[in-house]
Amino acid sequence: MEKLRFEDLSLSNELMHAIQDMGFEEATPIQSQAIPPVLEGHDIIGQAQTGTGKTAAFGLPCIDMVDEDNKKLQAIILCPTRELAIQVSEEMRKFLKYKPTVKVLPIYGGQPIDRQILGLKKGIQIVIGTPGRIMDHMNRRTLKMDNVKMVVLDEADEMLDMGFRDDIEEILSKVPEDRQTLFFSATMPREILELTKRYQKNPKLIKVVHQELTVPSVEQLYFEVKEKYKLEALSRLIDMYNPKLSMIFCNTKRGVDELVEHLQGRGYFAEGLHGDLKQTQRDRVMSKFRNGTIDILVATDVAARGIDVDDIEIVFNYDVPQDEEYYVHRIGRTGRAGRTGRAFTLVVGREIYKLRDIQKYTNSRIIQHQLPSLSDIEEVKMNIHLEKIKGVLEQGHLSKQIHMIEHLLQDEYTSLDIAAALLKMAMGDDQKEDLIAPQVLAQTGGPEGMARLFINIGRNHNVRAKDVLGAIAGETGIPGKLIGTIDIYDKYTFVDVPKEHANDILMRMKNNQIKGNKINIEPAKGK
Ligand code: ADP
Ligand code: MG
Repeated sequence: MEKLRFEDLSLSNELMHAIQDMGFEEATPIQSQAIPPVLEGHDIIGQAQTGTGKTAAFGLPCIDMVDEDNKKLQAIILCPTRELAIQVSEEMRKFLKYKPTVKVLPIYGGQPIDRQILGLKKGIQIVIGTPGRIMDHMNRRTLKMDNVKMVVLDEADEMLDMGFRDDIEEILSKVPEDRQTLFFSATMPREILELTKRYQKNPKLIKVVHQELTVPSVEQLYFEVKEKYKLEALSRLIDMYNPKLSMIFCNTKRGVDELVEHLQGRGYFAEGLHGDLKQTQRDRVMSKFRNGTIDILVATDVAARGIDVDDIEIVFNYDVPQDEEYYVHRIGRTGRAGRTGRAFTLVVGREIYKLRDIQKYTNSRIIQHQLPSLSDIEEVKMNIHLEKIKGVLEQGHLSKQIHMIEHLLQDEYTSLDIAAALLKMAMGDDQKEDLIAPQVLAQTGGPEGMARLFINIGRNHNVRAKDVLGAIAGETGIPGKLIGTIDIYDKYTFVDVPKEHANDILMRMKNNQIKGNKINIEPAKGK
């Protein structure tokens, strides 16, 4: 699929600047194909899957079409739900960073109409909203259509499914005829084609088609995480699987820079590669990766194109890629030369739809997996240390050290004590998390396999079992059904949780809130 550089799309300098700040490296296929005809004034029907960048495909030309000196309403973007309206307007605000005179406002049901009317009086040029509420304002004359030059139907198929057809038709019939009308949709049911016949003029159909893609034989897993735990999730996967060389993909240049900084902060040997780097800088990073000075390479899709390294054990998709072709390119970096490779994808919220599309069009199985718990990781680290110790023992030449230990033995320490102390010193740094040991968790009074945790709020704080359950499941991603008995007393609560998740829960819930109360959580003292 052909992709263009944003530089080739004749967008204003202000938009180019904002896109640069957002770290977009190149236009996605739907953006490459839709932006030029929209800028030329054509009506279009844009068909592309979720997550392919449709917002920018209509949002960027829409912004450049607005006359900044005219404070009247000039464009309407219709979205099926309040969430999507908010999401689109947030993205539009980012595009508008260097065009502060263009104002956008999301408008949707459920928000006080008076406040919306006040907002609209401030001179809004682009309104983004649900059809019902937009029509409402249109009928109240708080939205005047006389100067509207563009109407966008985002997720048109969904809006029709939700029964917005009449509202949409009413809106379209009241906007001046010489407007531009853009339809965006993941599918093209007959109803949409009927609408386009009635309300569009010679629309260009832009369909981002899916090619048959062959996926290399790589073990593919995905992990559902919350946005704020992505870094932690990635770190755990790296620690757990301990790959010799790995590549991490981000969707933006800024994403690469931020992730590299965070990984370095956590002590990983990682460097980034993206289109803003000079050739000499890239060469330097690549030679470090090849000679093992760094073992993690973080990159954008574009920057990774020329890279040829054979023994990458794991490819991480820190962001779900924009299109399935990228996914295939990314995971094709591993499993080369007859080796087995792994591809791990972190998935946040709605990205799951994108992942489903990727599965469908690549005809591959991407299996959901639980993130390793802190105790899993500790075990892995312990094993690494034990292996090292065995290696040293096998090499021998220890007489000098044995002599030192004999000295300590005279001070009435046992050799076991001494070995344990040395191991602790050797592992010192790795234990910064301060995990509660399994033996301690076993003594908290929970049933077999469970640990009982104490939380310092209870009935007096209006806390109910479902609040505790919801907070734990929501914060940690551990399925609610794994949580055991929840006993609520006036001033405190006991909750039984699976032992292997206890440390995760303690870490995540620490300093967190339940029903607005800041809590303290710790292992119960037992019987
Ligand atoms: P769609 O509407 O097709 O589902 P969105 O417009 O919501 O997709 O875009 C999905 C994500 O991709 C957003 O986070 C957006 O910021 C990002 N994105 C859009 N275009 C690009 C691009 N050219 N490069 C990198 N990221 C992009
Ligand atoms: Mg969208």
